[in-house]
Amino acid sequence: MRLFECGTLVPGCQWHTRAEEDAEVVRRTVEHMRTAHGEEIIRENMIENIKARIRNDEGAAAA
Ligand SMILES: [Zn+2]
Repeated sequence: MRLFECGTLVPGCQWHTRAEEDAEVVRRTVEHMRTAHGEEIIRENMIENIKARIRNDEGAAAA
């Protein structure tokens, strides 16, 4: 699984998401940015920032 923690991008935010694919993690994170952080326009560098912070979820990967 792939994991993104919003706190790595927005200090203090506890939201996080997991998905099999990076693309799904990005999609969910973009939705979160809109609804929780009022980011009406998601810029390309925001996408890059999200992708750069996605990491393997070690806990779930041990199968
Ligand atoms: Zn957040």
